[in-house]
Amino acid sequence: ETVVNKIAAGEIIQKPANALKELIENSLDAKASHIQVTVKSGGLKLLQIQDNGTGIRREDLAIVCERFTTSKLTKFEDLSNIGTFGFRGEALASISHVAHLCIQTKTANETCGFKACYEDGLLKGPPKPCAGNQGTIITVEDLFYNMPQRLQCLKSPAEEMQKICDVVSKYAVHNSGTAFTLKKYGEPPTLRTADRSTREDNITNIYGLQIGRALLPVELEDDVHKFKMMALVTKVDYSAKRGIMLLFINHRLVDSTALKAAIDSIYSTYLPKGMHPFTYISLEITPTHLDVNVHPTKHEVHFLYEDEIIDKIKRRIELKLLGSNT
Ligand code: ADP
Ligand code: MG
Repeated sequence: ETVVNKIAAGEIIQKPANALKELIENSLDAKASHIQVTVKSGGLKLLQIQDNGTGIRREDLAIVCERFTTSKLTKFEDLSNIGTFGFRGEALASISHVAHLCIQTKTANETCGFKACYEDGLLKGPPKPCAGNQGTIITVEDLFYNMPQRLQCLKSPAEEMQKICDVVSKYAVHNSGTAFTLKKYGEPPTLRTADRSTREDNITNIYGLQIGRALLPVELEDDVHKFKMMALVTKVDYSAKRGIMLLFINHRLVDSTALKAAIDSIYSTYLPKGMHPFTYISLEITPTHLDVNVHPTKHEVHFLYEDEIIDKIKRRIELKLLGSNT
């Protein structure tokens, strides 16, 4: 049973950045307006996320790390929305099978907070009362301590840190109403955004003034294939090897090879050779049109009317880029 759980967990959490993505989404689901991430050794020694969200009720602490425990499906109809956020109730459970996990949390209604530590999905002891503000601190230590093979497959701490920074950067841009901080333990923050900033502010802050100044907003709403798009594109070269694309579908950070190829083809047809563009795309589609059968680690998504939707997005962005002189 535990071995099976451990293997399943290792499939879901393949590197520190995967775990962090799940934890950030939990904080956002808990309506946090401040999220602070602290990392030691590329997230392998320590990955900590502190939020000022709703907190977890004391009575729920015993079960939050059991598989399929979620507070987010309350009605039968919610099942049809599963596609929006991948699998349910597996993130904390998975992390607790491959790391030392502690949760410190306080809700608005409780007079003090509680701290609980877990092993293999189970509480190690009764939650202990503690001081603290409303919100949750999730501390993940010694990730993959019980999976030496997995540890060997990981990149250097510096490279894992880069992936963590990438995830935080992208979520910070998309969720511009929430303040994000990322720092290495004991050091000043390397990334910091304000709450109630704009996406443009955060892109400028994180990806640089040259990109920030060149952003062109593109919007599209389509009743036929039932989707909405909000994008920020640029005509300037982004000097990363392959450019940068931030793609959110129904507010989840995902990959779509097909959409990426379509965007790249615009740039290679209409813009100077070797351009590496920066693009931010937020797509909202009917949740039932999203493919729910994709495994949670496969960030690659597919959706109904994919070709038609991508074609419409491509033509709209193309038009915007062609029509602008900046
Ligand atoms: P899911 O997000 O799919 O429900 P998780 O394993 O990620 O599953 O989390 C399990 C449950 O723990 C959530 O449903 C939520 O009730 C609670 N939870 C986790 N993180 C937080 C947080 N930062 N703030 C408040 N509640 C949280
Ligand atoms: Mg979750």
